[in-house]
Amino acid sequence: MLLEGRILGRVRIGLVGIGKIARDQHVPVLEASSDFELVATASRHNYVDGVANFRDVREMLAGVALDAVAVCTPPQHHFEAASASLEAGKHVLLEKPPSRTLAEFECLAALAAQKKLTLFQSWHSRFAPAVALAAETLRGRNISSAAIVWKEDVRRWHPGQTWIWKAGGFGIFDPGINALSILTRLLPDEIFVDDARLSVPSNCQAPIAADLALRSASGIAVTAAFDFRQTGDQTWDIRFTTDRGEVLLSEGGSRLFVDGREVKHSNAPHAHAEYAPLYDHFATLIRSGRSDADARPFKLVADAFLIGERIAVEEFHE
Ligand code: NAP
Repeated sequence: MLLEGRILGRVRIGLVGIGKIARDQHVPVLEASSDFELVATASRHNYVDGVANFRDVREMLAGVALDAVAVCTPPQHHFEAASASLEAGKHVLLEKPPSRTLAEFECLAALAAQKKLTLFQSWHSRFAPAVALAAETLRGRNISSAAIVWKEDVRRWHPGQTWIWKAGGFGIFDPGINALSILTRLLPDEIFVDDARLSVPSNCQAPIAADLALRSASGIAVTAAFDFRQTGDQTWDIRFTTDRGEVLLSEGGSRLFVDGREVKHSNAPHAHAEYAPLYDHFATLIRSGRSDADARPFKLVADAFLIGERIAVEEFHE
């Protein structure tokens, strides 16, 4: 199938879970792609016009010829869809967060390796327009500390997404893991969670806010303040203190400031600025027979849940 995808043309791909991110990003990016052909979906209620639509991933795998599958369901259902797809010989792109547990993620990586298939854990924020420039800017500087502030309004960005509040939905870590994916891309060494305070609404199973203290193996101190209760201006910032001044990656990785001055770059933000290069990378991985399944952001979230102090806060009602 890989051979067909490579030699006969575009990679035939199926999407599992047609919701917000599938509609906003995966479908339009695939429709414009010269590497992929969207041929099918598997979703219980939703569908995409002009392709073969199925209710269930196994029906899709049995019912249509595919080379690859992108899994866009809530994370509680990633493992089932991804493992069935790998077992059926398909390359897999996984939305973040990767799965319910680290063991599930490790199992998927092992399965992909065993079957010689590509598993791409698509940390989309790593593809944000200014992240590569931030990496370049930080290279050669001594970083003493970093501070993440990732605060957004859950009612605005996640309306009706009740899965986020359930066990395995990760609550505020659903967006917070995006910041951790950038941090682990930018800091040169291993990062550990030292301390975590998780604020959990008394009617939910996942945190609405979290404050973390982290440190890198080389001694860089990192704080992270995540909050789903921010109305008004939204904040997705990572601020680095270095021996040559302050480097601020702002707006989720879209803009870069050095000592308060914006560094202009040609990679202008646009509607699909993260997902277009993300799918380019998936195509490259498939063509070169490689996987990209970095577990580090997920491990930090798992460790925050392991050692975090839980604080009950007021109920959340949408
Ligand atoms: P969503 O709007 O809730 O869509 C998920 C879709 O998955 C649903 O529409 C649903 O379609 C399907 N699904 C299958 N089993 C489900 C279940 N038991 N409960 C709920 N839905 C189920 O969520 P989303 O925002 O697209 O997020 C999906 C994944 O993408 C998550 O892992 C999220 O972290 C990630 N992501 C989201 C964004 C974003 O901006 N929203 C950005 C990047 C990544 P059917 O009812 O038709 O089955």
